[in-house]
Amino acid sequence: MNQPDELGNPDQYGVVGHPVAHSWSPFIHGMFAKATAQNLVYRLFDVTPDDFRRDTLKLFASGVRGLNVTLPHKQAAAELVNELTARATRAQAVNTIAFFEDTTLLGDNTDGVGLTSDLERNLQVDLADKRLLILGAGGAVRGVLGPLLEREVREVVIANRTPVKAQQIAAEFADMGTVSGCAFSELRGPAYDLIINGTSASLQGEMPLLPAGIVGDTTVCYDMAYGRGQTPFTLWAKSLHAARATKGWGMLVEQAAESFLLWRGIRPNTQPALEVLAQNS
Ligand code: NDP
Repeated sequence: MNQPDELGNPDQYGVVGHPVAHSWSPFIHGMFAKATAQNLVYRLFDVTPDDFRRDTLKLFASGVRGLNVTLPHKQAAAELVNELTARATRAQAVNTIAFFEDTTLLGDNTDGVGLTSDLERNLQVDLADKRLLILGAGGAVRGVLGPLLEREVREVVIANRTPVKAQQIAAEFADMGTVSGCAFSELRGPAYDLIINGTSASLQGEMPLLPAGIVGDTTVCYDMAYGRGQTPFTLWAKSLHAARATKGWGMLVEQAAESFLLWRGIRPNTQPALEVLAQNS
């Protein structure tokens, strides 16, 4: 890892996305830095897809040591870096980049471990032998699919607005379990055990049109999106009497802790951030 700045200036980190203003990552990394006595700043960088490659390389050239990558750049980030961790190679999507002194740009993906930590540790959801429905087929879904399939779930169905993308991801992960891709309109009951919304529709205040019968009173519904109040997805889940309707705050905090570990060599305790965000959401 890079040497500390001799003048005592804070090390620079941040998140690149478009849009990115909704991100709580600066707050979370600020809490982590304080708790672990790390001298760093973490900022938001709104970068359009056309400018992603140029602007991201400029940030590293200007001294930034690490970046999180959020929508819609995760797949572009996998192409930008010159080394990928095993889990990022599997996902072909990157949410964390570390810049090393030898100029290596290492791409990692902490979304999957972030989601499984939140589901299993924070929400006490047992994934083994469960039927999962994942909505969306973007960078975030690519990141979480491998870690979910490693839990020996019974089946994963991926449904997407653009079905061919869901089918492509399903084909890429077919060696890990029973996984298929389809359009929203092709979904049928019986009710799934767990439905994960990995679309960015909630950020636009929208909810894909889904057939009845896929939610039952034991279904856990998890929106990767987060924000204050209900999302269209959690409202939909509650209207169908799902056992639980949860937003992605826990995933956000847990994936951030894994990024922090890659950058600083310390995994912060996530409990204080989880508690603050639970009070504010
Ligand atoms: P991408 O831009 O890579 O993918 C977006 C996905 O959403 C695509 O599947 C797209 O479908 C679909 N989509 C977009 N708009 C709509 C709509 N109006 N109706 C139906 N489907 C739609 O984004 P990411 O995968 O990076 O992120 C997805 C979501 O997950 C975001 O809300 C993000 O904030 C959240 N997220 C949360 C994390 C957390 O820690 N809590 C971590 C990572 C992501 P199509 O293929 O047809 O374009």
